[in-house]
Amino acid sequence: MSALSEFEIIEKYFAQQVNRRDVIVGIGDDCSIVEVPPANVLAISTDTLVAGQHFPLNTEAKAIGYKALAVNLSDLAAQGATPAWATLALTMPEAKEAWIEDFCRGFFTLLNQYNMQLIGGDLTRGSLTITVQVHGFLPRKKGLLRSGAQPNDGIYVTGTLGDAALALQCLQEKISIPGKSLPPLLEKLEYPKPCIAEGGILLDIASAAIDISDGLAADLQHILDQSGVGARIELNQLPLSDETSNLDPETAWRLALSGGDDYELCFTVPAHKLETLESIFAANKLKRITRIGTIEKNSGLRILHSNGELLNLDHKGFLQF
Ligand code: ADP
Ligand code: MG
Repeated sequence: MSALSEFEIIEKYFAQQVNRRDVIVGIGDDCSIVEVPPANVLAISTDTLVAGQHFPLNTEAKAIGYKALAVNLSDLAAQGATPAWATLALTMPEAKEAWIEDFCRGFFTLLNQYNMQLIGGDLTRGSLTITVQVHGFLPRKKGLLRSGAQPNDGIYVTGTLGDAALALQCLQEKISIPGKSLPPLLEKLEYPKPCIAEGGILLDIASAAIDISDGLAADLQHILDQSGVGARIELNQLPLSDETSNLDPETAWRLALSGGDDYELCFTVPAHKLETLESIFAANKLKRITRIGTIEKNSGLRILHSNGELLNLDHKGFLQF
């Protein structure tokens, strides 16, 4: 591919790392061989990022490396799994060493943060596309699913919503947010923090969970569909950052409901576990959580203004963002 051969690149950039004891054969053979702890099962997820489609073409390599893994970890978090291993299929137009080095800086920083090991992958020439697969552990017969929500469960989200979408909009339209600089928002777009610790705790508390990648309204709807329930949420409860709460409320709500790339968790909690939930999150160094509504028996998502009026999604074009 360049001065370095495919195998030299793998050896130099991808094979050098800490070894987990459960990796029997890592990078370098036809397959990797790994061991799952007794009484555990594997949670597996994969996501692809395509340049120009999932991130702007001028995104720095470090952010691409970080985010390619982060969006996958977000799926493990949503199911309450403990991250263990990853594979990386990297397609690049050319092998620029400086770019690969920068990419690895982002990728391995996050990988090491969770004591994960890269156990294999592929390297091919083509337009820039990154596919990561992650593997995590779950105690047998556990795992947070989308299908467990029940009427009267509280609906919660982690962090704040709409920031990444606002950052992307600002980048695309080359505008700055009134009175604010972009960096904190850009951090939310390029370096989303996967909710691994939060998901692990929710494994024993939540009745259903999903990670928010396509916007709260769309992702909560998956929980509602798969659980066979409906919900009401309150607009004035949506957690906004300093940046989004500076905008006019309609714009902020639209970003929070329909903006993508949040990588926060949306989860439901039965009434008898609400106290445990609030006290655990208050006592530990975890992301903030906010109750935004309640699961109801009647299907459909009802979004309410503070005066009790329903938000009309069709008229406002909320879901066409
Ligand atoms: P094969 O031809 O059998 O598919 P490759 O020649 O593609 O194997 O890869 C050689 C070894 O390097 C394999 O163990 C593979 O998993 C690993 N590998 C290839 N590309 C990457 C990568 N980008 N990151 C990590 N490991 C990789
Ligand atoms: Mg190959």
